[in-house]
Amino acid sequence: MPLMPSWIEAANAPDCPFPLNNLPCGVFSVAGGPRHCGVAIGDRILDVTAMEKAELISLADRPVLDKPEWNAVMALGPAAWERLRHLLIGFLRAKSDLQTTIEPYLHPLASAEMYMPFSVAEYTDFYASKQHATNVGTMFRGKDNALPPNWLHIPIGYNGRASSVVVSGTDVFRPWGQLKGPQDDAPRFAPCERFDFELEMGAVVGTPSRYGRPVTLAEADAMIFGYVLLNDWSARDIQAWEYQPLGPFQSKATATTISPWIVTRAALEPFRVDAPEREVPLLPYLQDSGPMHYNIELEVELTPQGGAPKVISRTNFRELYYSAAQQLAHHTSAGGPMRAGDLLGSGTVSGDTRESRGSLLELSWGGKEPLDLGSGVSRSFLQDNDRVTLRGLARGDGYTIGFGDCSGTLRPAIAPPWPAA
Ligand code: MN
Repeated sequence: MPLMPSWIEAANAPDCPFPLNNLPCGVFSVAGGPRHCGVAIGDRILDVTAMEKAELISLADRPVLDKPEWNAVMALGPAAWERLRHLLIGFLRAKSDLQTTIEPYLHPLASAEMYMPFSVAEYTDFYASKQHATNVGTMFRGKDNALPPNWLHIPIGYNGRASSVVVSGTDVFRPWGQLKGPQDDAPRFAPCERFDFELEMGAVVGTPSRYGRPVTLAEADAMIFGYVLLNDWSARDIQAWEYQPLGPFQSKATATTISPWIVTRAALEPFRVDAPEREVPLLPYLQDSGPMHYNIELEVELTPQGGAPKVISRTNFRELYYSAAQQLAHHTSAGGPMRAGDLLGSGTVSGDTRESRGSLLELSWGGKEPLDLGSGVSRSFLQDNDRVTLRGLARGDGYTIGFGDCSGTLRPAIAPPWPAA
């Protein structure tokens, strides 16, 4: 698909992340004003909350853009999403005769404050990169038991915390927790010493599913409203001690950072690609019925305090073994319902090469091979005041789809409210 030209000139530049083809959904405010739902276009934000109030947009028999979150729109389902996209393209396409009507609803992107684009109903994190699972398994359990026996059959996941999902730009505080090294007799309670990022994408569920009713893979795909970049911050030392037998708990509870923009499934349609070859046949309810992965280039940038930013990993969303649709179909397989605003982390996206590993744990091989950042600076794990920025882009025919930066700075641990031991 070629670039769809817009009367907003900045949207037509081949490297602009927000062309008319994209139209991602966010929540913003300008000049201390109220939070509204907005759609990015070029170097502006279109205030769709104000447009609904002015009856330029109508998606249901009641307002659905009146709250500063996209959940009500998401719950309407794919026909309403398509209608909104069609309306917006009509307003913003080149030579639209509605330009003077629409102009008052545009704000400069640069002056906007961004907030969580939706209210996270529940957050689940998966483990869908074979390379990541193999790398982590090798470090935690040894080479012979690296990939768990279930991994090629089941999209492994755990139920995470929705309450600590935060938008890009929110500080993250180094957590305290129980630490116990292999040589220690007993655990101690101390600030995490092996704090890490995980490069992931998040799938945002729009259409709810019913209690007691699993969904098919095709239904699951159609339920997904869009995708965000996602950093699943991880405390590796807390994780290593706590994770058996029920999986991560406090090691993943501190924070999960997402990009400010949800890129809709419709915008990503041209970037669908086939799944990798299956090493063993999947059970029928997980069998691929078409291309459900996406070609989205991903990178991680690390900026030490006062230092220069450095890109430390480059990989692609298509590296994953399981698609978000497969994860979602599996998620409903035991009958638990999904809600509008359920967030599914893809799992760390790691490729085959060292440069394409999606976490510091893998990049520094558990701290044994510190990563050189130049100027005499190296990292095994994150240090206080390091900033981690994830970026993602899909390259179309003369245009680029972006998500906005997914960025967070690690701040020093806050002392717990009890006396030191
Ligand atoms: Mn993760």
